[in-house]
Amino acid sequence: MSHPWIADRMRLFDSSGIRKVFDLAAQLKDPINLSIGQPDFDVPASVQQAAVDAIHSRKNGYALTQGMPVLREKLQALVDAEHGHADRKVAVTSGTSGALVLALWSLVNPGDEVIVFDPYFVMYPPLVSMVGGATVLVDTYPDFRIDIDRLRAALSPRTKVILFNSPANPTGAMASAAEARAVAELAAERGIALVSDEIYRTFAYDEPLASPAKWNPDTIVVDGFSKSHAMTGWRVGFMHGPATVIDEMVKLQQYTFVCAPQPAQWAAAAALDVPMDEHRDAFRRKRDLIYEGLRGMFEVVKPGGAFYVFPKAPWGTATAFVERAVRDGVLVIPGGIFSARDTHFRISYAADERTLERGIEALCRLARAGA
Ligand code: PMP
Repeated sequence: MSHPWIADRMRLFDSSGIRKVFDLAAQLKDPINLSIGQPDFDVPASVQQAAVDAIHSRKNGYALTQGMPVLREKLQALVDAEHGHADRKVAVTSGTSGALVLALWSLVNPGDEVIVFDPYFVMYPPLVSMVGGATVLVDTYPDFRIDIDRLRAALSPRTKVILFNSPANPTGAMASAAEARAVAELAAERGIALVSDEIYRTFAYDEPLASPAKWNPDTIVVDGFSKSHAMTGWRVGFMHGPATVIDEMVKLQQYTFVCAPQPAQWAAAAALDVPMDEHRDAFRRKRDLIYEGLRGMFEVVKPGGAFYVFPKAPWGTATAFVERAVRDGVLVIPGGIFSARDTHFRISYAADERTLERGIEALCRLARAGA
């Protein structure tokens, strides 16, 4: 990192924390892996076939920057049916990450503040730094609920964007309709751009997802197929929001990512026809298994969505606890990677039940053992 060619902005963030866990993990023979941020099921067969068919029928060239009509029009119809906003336009992106990059580059001026709820998805603060913005954290411990007064107190005349994520990575927390509405209305009242990351919307277990776009028609929604259909490697996401904002983001996509891969877009169009309810129900059962297994020994909030749970380390810092866990063969991620606090750790329960049971047993043993 000390090479003379490297630009100053690269010093604004690092990824050493997560690399350390993966380095430790690489030395393990048969780890109990609860660290993976992707579903443990495969891409649905019809989606795989649609990609193969697209490749064989020579759909391999550049896609339209805003997305192939086969996918974009289907998404637009779904979005229109859900929101019914006159001015809500859809475009396809290079993964949800691509949509986040486009959103921040398009919205944030140097010196602008971006509100991020803590704990947060690991990518948010580095993305804000990259565009010269300042991340302003709003703490949501200990229950990961959004306190609207805390949010209001964090706003300043420089606040440009609120980054909202429900169901959330790394906590699995799902904002209630009242919370989503309060955030949506506050953003509208103060003229702040609201970006809603809904990548986990398929995996909502106890109530339907409340998108803030329901109460704020200017909300910019980013979403994608990585989690819903296990297509993490295919790089297809999408975004929707006010047409003029989306047009700016598409303009930027033209000069950066160019387009999402064309065969993957045909496959994603097929994915929209595949019901994922069985997978959602299986994750709900795993959520219950892991929560019930841990709650006697750990301070843990029952997650409402995604496939993560974020318990408090029973002793020491999260870093110390996770290092011990990893040495004992259990791969989890220390919370300091997703938070200003080094107190909790992330478990991904996108794993088979046997692995989950082994993980619960090992973690509870460690908790009992103490530092
Ligand atoms: N947002 C959140 C909250 C995520 O957890 C992830 C993936 N871990 C992404 C966005 C990015 O997803 P992708 O780029 O694969 O679509």
